[in-house]
Amino acid sequence: MNIHISQRVQSIAPSVTLAIDAKAKEMKDAGIDVVGFGTGQPDFDTPDFVKDAAKKALDDGFTKYTAAAGIPELRQAIADKFKRENDLDYNASQIIVSCGGKHSIFNVMMVLCEEGDEVIVPAPYWLSYPEIVKVTGAVPVVIETDDATGFKVTPDQLRDAITPNTRLFVLNSPSNPTGAVYSPDELKELGDICVEKGVLILSDEIYEHLLYDGAVHKSVASFSQAHQDHTIIVHGLAKAWSMTGWRLGFIAAPEVIAKKVAALQSHSTSNPTSFAQKGGVAALTQPMTHLEGWMEAFSERRAYAYDRLSSMPGMTCYKSQGAFYLFPNISGTGLKSSEFCSRLLEEESVAAVPGLAFGADDYIRISHATSMEQIVKGLDRMEQFCGRLVG
Ligand code: PLP
Repeated sequence: MNIHISQRVQSIAPSVTLAIDAKAKEMKDAGIDVVGFGTGQPDFDTPDFVKDAAKKALDDGFTKYTAAAGIPELRQAIADKFKRENDLDYNASQIIVSCGGKHSIFNVMMVLCEEGDEVIVPAPYWLSYPEIVKVTGAVPVVIETDDATGFKVTPDQLRDAITPNTRLFVLNSPSNPTGAVYSPDELKELGDICVEKGVLILSDEIYEHLLYDGAVHKSVASFSQAHQDHTIIVHGLAKAWSMTGWRLGFIAAPEVIAKKVAALQSHSTSNPTSFAQKGGVAALTQPMTHLEGWMEAFSERRAYAYDRLSSMPGMTCYKSQGAFYLFPNISGTGLKSSEFCSRLLEEESVAAVPGLAFGADDYIRISHATSMEQIVKGLDRMEQFCGRLVG
């Protein structure tokens, strides 16, 4: 039988990061000593106070449907977080909770984009952005950035990319995969252009709390009411609370968008998991004391990995300021990213993600959300590999 696949998903590529994770797990299960630098999640456990809240919810029988947009208590806790941490005023009605930040982005793009629309996506980009844009029928318009300019879009680049068909500008600071963090001035300038041109900003702030060397996070929504009116903030609990498997993400958006996202969600997933939401309330209402130890570990690993990668044969490395990734340039090795990563996995049992997946073929992504011992071992192996390549 000739099965028809819809035009909408014809060109969608499966997530490369999830595929690499799966491949590394398979090799581990087969008894191979694999070092995994592919993962996009902290190696720490979800904090106990979050787990306890979800366990209590289960014990209390909080196991039924909830409101599709999330329980009021959680939506209010999120609105309070934006006030407390970002000095942003949102009504709970402007907050929609979904099954992960990825789901939030999917919902927003489905609500805002369609055939004939353009979405500006700076590269290197988190790999799901362009794929989700394509599902909506819109076209991703990629702005190239590189390590020489700190992986940041300039105001001129943004102005040049905007056309009458531009629906959305995707901004991700701190960035996955580069770890770049826009300064408040840089953000304001980009935000000003969007306000002037009437372009909405999808601001993915999921790595907000993971910052190094005194870098500060500012939301582009926070410069003025006009900036807030032009911005949809996407956020989630996956990274800073190590809750990747809980699937909880959220948006803060102009009311009209929030309403439509809720309506769309009410016909797809319905509510995010009931008892997970109770864990989410605990996460957002308790102090983030767990993060101090985590950030100490991430900082130490980042400093070590940065030094090693910077001095590896054929490599240069941009110094990240946020998230938990390094994004070294491998062009000096003579290989493009896919061949580099598949040979690295085959020859040295080290899993890294090819930059091609992020729209940047001269780079690879190394996650340092793994133990120091694994980092040392993996980088030792990578150094041997690069040594062989460069000679
Ligand atoms: N945004 C960015 C930049 C990410 O790196 C991720 C996860 O890797 C997400 C959003 C989505 O996270 P989740 O769907 O697990 O909440």
